[in-house]
Amino acid sequence: MPRPIEALIHPQNLAHNLARARASAPDARVWAVVKANAYGHGIERAYPGLRGADGFALLDLDEAQRLRALDWRGPILLLEGCFEPRDLELCSRLNLWHAVHCEQQIDWLAMHKTHQPHRVFLKMNSGMNRLGFTPSAFRAAWTRLNVLPQVDEISLMTHFSDADAQRLGADGIAHQVAAFVAATEDLPGERSLSNSAATLRHSQSPAVRADWVRSGIMSYGGSPDYPEHSAAHWGLKPGMTLRSRLIATQHLQPGDTVGYGSSFRAEAKMRIGIVACGYADGYPRHCPSGTPILVEGQRTQTVGRVSMDMLAVDLTTMPSAQIGSEVTLWGEGPRGTRLSIDEVAHAGGTIGWELMTAVTQRVPVTVQ
Ligand code: PLP
Repeated sequence: MPRPIEALIHPQNLAHNLARARASAPDARVWAVVKANAYGHGIERAYPGLRGADGFALLDLDEAQRLRALDWRGPILLLEGCFEPRDLELCSRLNLWHAVHCEQQIDWLAMHKTHQPHRVFLKMNSGMNRLGFTPSAFRAAWTRLNVLPQVDEISLMTHFSDADAQRLGADGIAHQVAAFVAATEDLPGERSLSNSAATLRHSQSPAVRADWVRSGIMSYGGSPDYPEHSAAHWGLKPGMTLRSRLIATQHLQPGDTVGYGSSFRAEAKMRIGIVACGYADGYPRHCPSGTPILVEGQRTQTVGRVSMDMLAVDLTTMPSAQIGSEVTLWGEGPRGTRLSIDEVAHAGGTIGWELMTAVTQRVPVTVQ
């Protein structure tokens, strides 16, 4: 018998979430963001659910090659552009669009002998201070690109730091939108500004939805602004389920403790179950006692510290739970039950993005 843990990927839910992105920004095109191996879902496994996107946005040339091998002939965008000059060769060969965020990438383009002109997304640093040209340097960068014979078309993009938050006055993106619009007003080209949070929260503004939205976490059913809004609030469905089974049960007396460090102590008689899932599977070790979990679709909570291969759950009010009972760590449980990845991530002091991308190699994956 293999160890009873598995991840399930739900392509139909991915397709549903993509449709949700379209509904939010009906006149925009949608990049399905599939970096980090489709947020841990696997490019090949996610592809059937996301192939209705207008394009795929990612980081690695390897991931771009895998998409082309799946026969995706539409747009692919390298969100951070090229990491070295020779990447441009593959961009030409695979017909990739690529971001340009610094002078060095323009230098590489200018020196590149290309058979096929490049389509680039010139990136503005409108306030996140990660990648891109500042608003004041943007026009000069655009002009440099515009005269290069290697460049066919220039689109414009920026990325928000606070699209999930009500901050900085009226909203978390107002200052970045204003900076982007002011610096690009009379420049031609398509625009892309929004990640999932902006797509869901701010797409009533034409300047924000623009020509392309970039749908990352929402494609996989994670809420971009949990705990303010849940995935269910946004009408999103889980792209991934992590499930396991009980492999042991224990009866505790008052005063008994559970797991390493004895961090949980029973106050009364309890029954607990041991689940075949630990931090070496990607379940966050920082999830404290009380983290929600489903046993046979019924909601209960973890007790004690998560160890490498196991964690414990409270079964006191679940007399029917026994060795072999199904446990849902996150995602879809039996009989239509559901536990959001955001809730688990939040309990562990992290975010759904991290949990999705952290499921480890030893967990077998099945496409449902
Ligand atoms: N666009 C860029 C440039 C990104 O780096 C990311 C992810 O970090 C996204 C879009 C998608 O973001 P999200 O997963 O919040 O939708």
